[in-house]
Amino acid sequence: MDRMTIDGVELSGKRVLTRVDFNVPLDGEQVTDDTRIRAALPTIQKIIQVGGKCILMSHLGRPKGGSDPKYSIKPAAQRLSELLNLDVKIAPDCVGVEVQAMIDTMQNGEVLMLENVRFHAEEEKNDPAFAAQLAALGEVYINDAFGAAHRAHASTAGVAKILKNSAAGYLMKAELESLSRLLNAAHEGFVVILGGAKVGDKITVIHNLITRASDMLIGGGMAYTFLKARGLDIGKSLLDAEHLNIAYNILQVAENTNPRKRCRLLLPTDHIVADNINGGGIEATMDVKIPSGKLGADIGPNTTSYFASIIRQAKTIFWNGPMGIFEKDQFAKGTMEIARAVADATARGAFSVVGGGDSVAALAQSGLSDKISHVSTGGGAALEFLGGIDLPGVEALAKAPKKP
Ligand code: AMP
Repeated sequence: MDRMTIDGVELSGKRVLTRVDFNVPLDGEQVTDDTRIRAALPTIQKIIQVGGKCILMSHLGRPKGGSDPKYSIKPAAQRLSELLNLDVKIAPDCVGVEVQAMIDTMQNGEVLMLENVRFHAEEEKNDPAFAAQLAALGEVYINDAFGAAHRAHASTAGVAKILKNSAAGYLMKAELESLSRLLNAAHEGFVVILGGAKVGDKITVIHNLITRASDMLIGGGMAYTFLKARGLDIGKSLLDAEHLNIAYNILQVAENTNPRKRCRLLLPTDHIVADNINGGGIEATMDVKIPSGKLGADIGPNTTSYFASIIRQAKTIFWNGPMGIFEKDQFAKGTMEIARAVADATARGAFSVVGGGDSVAALAQSGLSDKISHVSTGGGAALEFLGGIDLPGVEALAKAPKKP
């Protein structure tokens, strides 16, 4: 980790402007999953303990660049208040005179939550004047919003460029250390498991990891584009026609790399098929081809046990994307058994990282979240980082001094 971290900066008595990722799911004014808020607690607690003035900012949802009560940060701030067992003040905006007045009266160890930064269209444009307004609120900038680090927005990259006294929070640090460990993993026993619906999101990560991993196991809806690229019948299964050529090229790369660094790219060899995604006509094919009129909804029993046997012998594991339409019980078996295999490998000493909203949800459904070395809170950011792309929110943070 070549960036300053929260432990290396003076926080006591300072106005600590802290970017968190409180982009949590809401049901009206109720937070339905507080994982992201809990993940930021160590950083917030540290600032409180050492007597900093903790000024929090975050985005929530996709408001159209203006104030919208539907996307207010208030429910997240209230949940934070409960978790900290402390009064968290809520500002009516993220910039402006009222906000400044609230900050001026803050005592050391107090927490103030600014309103959704995306209520200003300038946030996503990384507008320099808006970034300067935000930066003026703090004396120190801590970025703990790993999930937003792949976006060059005003509250992430923009502020850090102005407020030079900047550092990564504990969550950001943990994410970067875990993901860097994957990029530095030994080739032998490095197993990458990819699934989910979209091929497009995973192309960079496939390209970057195919030269590092020993095995790449592809399941879920995205596998059908690869099977089609191999010339197989996929019936009515999900097809990402736009990425068919890229899938074909990836298969070629996997076959033609240096044998010592070769990555075994494995696709499902049998499937659970159905007439449609709602079920009906569910059966196991025991064949790689999908019968016409059917769609592949989960990996089949042979694929599941073969994938699981490889995972159980792994030394390093990265998993992103479910193996089937896991939201429906009848198509969740493949995903649940892969989760179990990842947990078993971890118990035997493997280092495992699971990232991406749906895989994290699937893991939670399996009850095995605490059996994984690191559950990443940032799907898109993790995929970009593992794809070898620099994250603007990290690059903008102050560099740590070089060790002698
Ligand atoms: P992604 O955001 O690309 O990780 O995709 C996650 C979604 O992929 C989940 O909602 C799954 O239901 C869906 N999915 C997984 N396998 C399949 C499949 N075989 N056919 C259609 N959708 C799938």
